Amino acid sequence: MSDHSISKLYGGRPRKTYGADRVCAARGCTTRLSAYNKNEHCWTHFQPVPRPARIPAPSGQ
Ligand SMILES: [Zn+2]
Repeated sequence: MSDHSISKLYGGRPRKTYGADRVCAARGCTTRLSAYNKNEHCWTHFQPVPRPARIPAPSGQ
């Protein structure tokens, strides 16, 4: 085992919060947002940025 544990990277690092009294921006949704959720919508209404479809590379040669 190495002495260079990756746990050191996570020690004593303050977590950024975005306010605990926010609600989802979706119409009619009163879901409270987590202070750690940087989005304006709850996870139900959060729409991830669509990624362009990727054509899988042929596995053959
Ligand atoms: Zn919502």
